[in-house]
Amino acid sequence: MFDVQVTAHQPLALGVRPAGTAPVPTRLHVPGSVLRGALAAAWIAEYGLPTKVPASKRREFIALFEGYVSYGPLFATGSQVVPLSVLRCKYRRCATVVDEAFDDTGDNPSCGCGPLAPGRGEVEFTGAAAGRPVTQSTHLQIDDDRGTAEEGLLFTRRVLAHRDADGAERTFHGRISPGADLPDGAAAWLGDTRRLRLGGRRGTSGAVTYTPHPSNPVAPPTGHRIALRLIAPAILTDPAGMPLDLADHQTLRASLDAELAPLLGDAHVTAVERVWARRERVGGWHAASRLPKPVELAVSIGSVLLLDFDRPPASDRLLALTGRGIGLRRSEGFGALETAISAWGQPTEPAPIATRQDQVQDPAEAYARLLLDTGHGAWFVDNLRPYVEELAAHPGTQHLGLLQRPRLRRLTPYERDRIEGMLLTAPVDVLDRTLGILTVLNRLTEKETARP
Ligand SMILES: [Zn+2]
Repeated sequence: MFDVQVTAHQPLALGVRPAGTAPVPTRLHVPGSVLRGALAAAWIAEYGLPTKVPASKRREFIALFEGYVSYGPLFATGSQVVPLSVLRCKYRRCATVVDEAFDDTGDNPSCGCGPLAPGRGEVEFTGAAAGRPVTQSTHLQIDDDRGTAEEGLLFTRRVLAHRDADGAERTFHGRISPGADLPDGAAAWLGDTRRLRLGGRRGTSGAVTYTPHPSNPVAPPTGHRIALRLIAPAILTDPAGMPLDLADHQTLRASLDAELAPLLGDAHVTAVERVWARRERVGGWHAASRLPKPVELAVSIGSVLLLDFDRPPASDRLLALTGRGIGLRRSEGFGALETAISAWGQPTEPAPIATRQDQVQDPAEAYARLLLDTGHGAWFVDNLRPYVEELAAHPGTQHLGLLQRPRLRRLTPYERDRIEGMLLTAPVDVLDRTLGILTVLNRLTEKETARP
């Protein structure tokens, strides 16, 4: 299993294509399907279309993106899905939280402000660090075929801001479960840090760094009564392949038991106690054939299934279930879930202020590391200095001459973009400090290399 961290360098447009003139919304998290699509695009950029590569490579692609791997959703630090079983203060004036799945205080619970209200199963940000997560901008509709702006067609797009209130780049966390049968080569590919593009509007948005870490997650607690909380839409079907009727608890129990008992070491679902659910239609995109997938009826993110078991499933089996998910099309990011045996609680205010400040990176340090990572750290120390001195003497004379030097012809487009941004926008004092930090980092690196 990999714990995945994604750091956003540009705003994220995690919505759908514009329809009419309504603003294009964005999701507040990265669905597993989006992460999977971005990794598939990176694989194709590296090796070519799966239809045009040798058979062994094609098998690797299929193993990664059509078979063994479950791509979980990624949630930004300070955000979470509020399960549909949770009731909260309708006016959000007080912090009363009741999880109906594990609360027996009776009907119509209330707080001092009035009756409690159910959530909508949405992703929410808590804490001051969130800032204003969504920003809105207006764009000209571009004709995809002609590459020209269509006359008079403006649309408004909402994007997830890539910086939090403190100016730090937003990070997202989640999990990829490779499955036992994934070939070694494919697992190694998945385990590499790389740059990805997430979501729409490529070019002006979506640049992220994907950092996977092999992990041994802690197994969740177990019991006779377990809530499955969906953190991705799930496509649940009855034995005939039809969408499950969630109100029909008999059929639901039988279908869930058929799927879960073999995974949970023969712990059987004896009853579906209660279901809190919403429905939605989901589609998809088949990367290899470049064709749309059928639209299906799914149970939405935030839905909760409260199940009774004849005996508590082993914790490590539950852990395997959370890595695998439930229902169909799991390799596309559907069916990701968490299990719980006790009430959901509003996470406490994350990260004390001191920690938040630690996370705010000095732009000069970020630039210095960027320059160091190009492999031309020493060269930049020598060649950036005259530029900075010239700029200090003649303010407003920013230019990109440095980037034309033959030495830098192999920069990645990402590095080139970032260095361009630095040269054109960084104030002289930041550039000056960048040089200072780069000089130090460079010496440290040389020492490391020189060590026997
Ligand atoms: Zn209240």
